[in-house]
Amino acid sequence: MKQVEDSIFPMEDALEMILMFDRSGNISYANGAARQKLEYDDALCGRHISEVFPNTFPAGKGVEEADSLSQNELCSLVAYRRNHTCFPVEAKILKEASNPEEYICMANDILEREYLGREIERIRQEAEQAAKVKSEFVANVTHELRTPVNGVLGNIRELFDRPLDEVTLKSLHLVERCCDDMNKIINSILDFSKLEAGKFTLEPRKFHFRNMMDYVKSNHINKITEKGLNFFMTVSPQIPEYIIGDELRIVQILNNLLSNAQKFTSIGKISVEAVKTAQVNNRIELFFIVSDTGIGIDKADTDKLFQSFSQVDASISRKYGGTGLGLNISKQLAELMGGRIEVESEKNKGSTFSFSIWVEGCEEEGALQASGIGEQQPGMAAGASFEEEDLLEDIRVYGTEENQKNLKKNLSKLILCVEMENWEKAEMFMEIVRELTAQAPQDIKRTALRLKMAIQKEDYEKVAKAFEELNNFL
Ligand code: ADP
Repeated sequence: MKQVEDSIFPMEDALEMILMFDRSGNISYANGAARQKLEYDDALCGRHISEVFPNTFPAGKGVEEADSLSQNELCSLVAYRRNHTCFPVEAKILKEASNPEEYICMANDILEREYLGREIERIRQEAEQAAKVKSEFVANVTHELRTPVNGVLGNIRELFDRPLDEVTLKSLHLVERCCDDMNKIINSILDFSKLEAGKFTLEPRKFHFRNMMDYVKSNHINKITEKGLNFFMTVSPQIPEYIIGDELRIVQILNNLLSNAQKFTSIGKISVEAVKTAQVNNRIELFFIVSDTGIGIDKADTDKLFQSFSQVDASISRKYGGTGLGLNISKQLAELMGGRIEVESEKNKGSTFSFSIWVEGCEEEGALQASGIGEQQPGMAAGASFEEEDLLEDIRVYGTEENQKNLKKNLSKLILCVEMENWEKAEMFMEIVRELTAQAPQDIKRTALRLKMAIQKEDYEKVAKAFEELNNFL
């Protein structure tokens, strides 16, 4: 007897009802769930199975006489409690393998299962609603934060036009940098909350790939060379001149990886490489590699790097700052573009971050500007000839042909975004316009600032006016 009890012990605690009965229908065992749901306590054994399933088994007769019974298949039965109330069950009746004279019935309370299903659905909806409220709250707060930050920024930039002593000027530059940093954090939180809420959409457009890479280079080269680091950039000639993809988001990932590389490297070099790794019809897989010779990351820590708010340890956030959102956003963006991001790193030796994305190529095969890797002077990017460097410099000098051409192009992209009410993207183009007008005369810089403020306030009329004015200068 002890042995039988031991062998049926796992059934005793099962969530479904389990009944064992012989050929003549006498119940020999009922597990805890059966005794509790049928309200028999310990008094089920010895009863006839027809007391539990009167619609299926004829009273006092053998099991085989139940004609509506299909063994081994799920069937819908009605189970009766001791007090003659009933409930629907989904049941399976099997012959015991070791003893063909014995039958086992396993039954689930359908109403209870449906109730649980509804409960799970209700909890899921509540969680979804809570997540939605949270991301809307985060989006609203960050949006509201932008207005005062940009108000401070705008006023500071107005002050730069006045005669200021050196100390005040230094303080103002510091405040300006703090506001820029704050804006970066706000934008990261906005992106993160949108990605989490699944509200993030990519906006692919045709763009000039090498111009984009030059733009990325121009964003970082000064800070990298100021630290005395070497910088190398290589773009494979296999990559077509024009591609269709979300340029701003590709730039965002590269900017994040390069900012980190620059932040965590004090000696050696930083390099960026872009290669084409696959092609299916006109779909192209691009692979980017950003390497540095910086502080590196422990193997044990690399797994958590791409989680949100994750920094390797508290001392890193104290020393280097940061929110721990950049890599998570980069990972989600790369995945949205059909790719993935990975890291290989060794403590005190350096890190290599790589990511892939899928884009569309705009021409058959580009045997274009070939680029090579080699030892370079600090600040000189591999693959960029002196002429290209000059061109890059020209873009920044207000009034040059390159500068005006790029200004017009970015202004028209900007106004298109405004018309589509994509204010965030308009702001990104505004950043480019601001850089292209950084060396312009004061009245042009002021108009650009008014345009920026109007975009930040999402004030269509003021945007249109400032845009018109800026366009007239060109
Ligand atoms: P943060 O804004 O804090 O830099 P990220 O998500 O971009 O956020 O990076 C998360 C953490 O990953 C960093 O705080 C740092 O600990 C580590 N990390 C990222 N890039 C590098 C790198 N190139 N070298 C060393 N550590 C890195």
